[in-house]
Amino acid sequence: MQHGNNIQGIGMTSARTRDRLVERLKQNGIRSNAVLEQIRNVPRHLFVDEALASRAYEDTALPIGLGQTISQPWVVARMTEALLDGFTGESVLEIGTGCGYQTAVLAPLVRKIYTVERIRELYLKAKQRLRELDIYNVQFRPGDGWEGWPKYAPYDGILVAAAAPEVPQKLLEQLAPGGRLIMPVGPAGRQDLIMVTRDNDHYEQVSLGAVSFVPLVKGK
Ligand code: SAH
Repeated sequence: MQHGNNIQGIGMTSARTRDRLVERLKQNGIRSNAVLEQIRNVPRHLFVDEALASRAYEDTALPIGLGQTISQPWVVARMTEALLDGFTGESVLEIGTGCGYQTAVLAPLVRKIYTVERIRELYLKAKQRLRELDIYNVQFRPGDGWEGWPKYAPYDGILVAAAAPEVPQKLLEQLAPGGRLIMPVGPAGRQDLIMVTRDNDHYEQVSLGAVSFVPLVKGK
């Protein structure tokens, strides 16, 4: 990719820069080698504005326009690791595609991703970006994630990249028996990343620690 190579020439996206990020994530408790490998592989600088490319491999959230952010790499790694730990399923529903970074990290690790984004411009850009990166096992949809995506339900995994006061009922319904859902829950600024596992009609919830996300907005 021309754009990437140009930037690579001046070292901001060099192997060493990426290795430093991976080291940092390890120090901060990320254990999954498959996930760390993906953090190393996915060119995060292509998911942010060129003006921010030099900061793309810092472990920090960055603005992507329209009031939204690209998630912090640690958060993406933690959510992916939690989703995939012991995961034997095939399909994952993602709510909040944003720029598509989390989608790109997860895509090679599962069979199929269905991803929903309410801001049309972000949806279009993410779709194009992932195609440019030769990622083909993702189906995109503009729409309201509170409704999930009934058409392809149930999902073995559900990953929500925006926070709400509670887990939307529709998402719990669209989770397959044996499946798991990862989502930040709580008020702005002090949310808890939770994991819900479903065993037929029984749902169990555990906390994975404090996080901070943009809100899951209601409606289109
Ligand atoms: N996954 C992204 C981060 C996304 S930030 C990454 O890898 O960086 C959260 C995203 O959720 C934003 O793009 C926002 O527009 C979207 N969002 C918020 N409410 C939503 C809703 N109800 N349905 C779908 N997407 C929503």
